[in-house]
Amino acid sequence: ELVEAMRLERLASVGQLAAGIAHEIRNPLTSVKGFIQLIMVRGERPVPREHLEIIQVEIERIEKLIREFHLLARPPQVPQFAAVNLRSVLNNVILLMESLALGKNVALEFMPGEDVAVCGDVSQLKQVWINLVRNAIEAAPKGGSVYIALRTDGDRAVVSVTDNGPGIPEDILPHLGTPFFTTKAEGTGLGLSVCYSIVQRHGGSIRVDSRPGEGATFTVQLPLANNTACI
Ligand code: ADP
Ligand code: MG
Repeated sequence: ELVEAMRLERLASVGQLAAGIAHEIRNPLTSVKGFIQLIMVRGERPVPREHLEIIQVEIERIEKLIREFHLLARPPQVPQFAAVNLRSVLNNVILLMESLALGKNVALEFMPGEDVAVCGDVSQLKQVWINLVRNAIEAAPKGGSVYIALRTDGDRAVVSVTDNGPGIPEDILPHLGTPFFTTKAEGTGLGLSVCYSIVQRHGGSIRVDSRPGEGATFTVQLPLANNTACI
C-alpha cells in the first residue's frame, strides 16, 4: 500500500512530464537534423538509403513517444464510465497482441472463467492490458509464455498477467510507473505510467510480484460494478 501511494504521487506534474518529453524528443530530432544537413552538404545523388533509413527510424521513435505521451498526458477527461465486461476486454486484448506473441513464439493464454463486470471506460481499460501484455511478451524468452487470469476477490475484480521472463530486479521495482523510466533500448518508459494513471482513475490498484529468474506478475484490482448504474 505504501509503495503504491508513493508511486501514485510520483505520477509527475504536467510540467515535469513536459520537460521529460522535450528531453526524449531532442535526441532523435538532433539526429534527423544532422542527417538532413549531411545530405544537403554532401549533395550525393541518389541520397544514400542508409541515411534515409536512419531519418525514418528516428521519426518513428518521435511518433511513438508522442503517441504514448498523449495517452498519459491528455487531460484527465472524465472517463466514459459504463459497465465493462472484463472477459470480453481481455479477449479483445489477446486478439490485438497475438501477432506480437506469435512473432516471438510466445504462448499467450487466457482462461476465461466467469463474466466479471466493472464500471469503467472500456478503451482506457483495454489500454491497461495492452501495455501489460506487451511488456510481458517483451520480457518472455523466445518460446516462453504469458498467462492472463481473471477472477474476483470479494468486491474486487482481479486480473493478473504473468510471464516467465527474467523478473524485475529489486532496485528497479520502485521506479516502475515513473514516466520515461525504461531499461529497454527501444523503450519509451511510458507504458506503465499510463497503466497506473488509468487504474488510479478507476479506483483500482496495481501490484507487482517478481520472481527473479522466473518471471513477473502484474495484478490489477478494480472495484466490481454493483447493481446501481455506473457514474
Ligand atoms: P517500456 O516498456 O517502454 O520500457 P514501461 O513503462 O512499459 O516502458 O516499462 C518500464 C520498465 O519496467 C521496462 O523497461 C522494464 O524494465 C520493466 N518491466 C515492465 N514489465 C516487465 C516485465 N513483465 N518483466 C520485466 N520487466 C518489466
Ligand atoms: Mg512497455
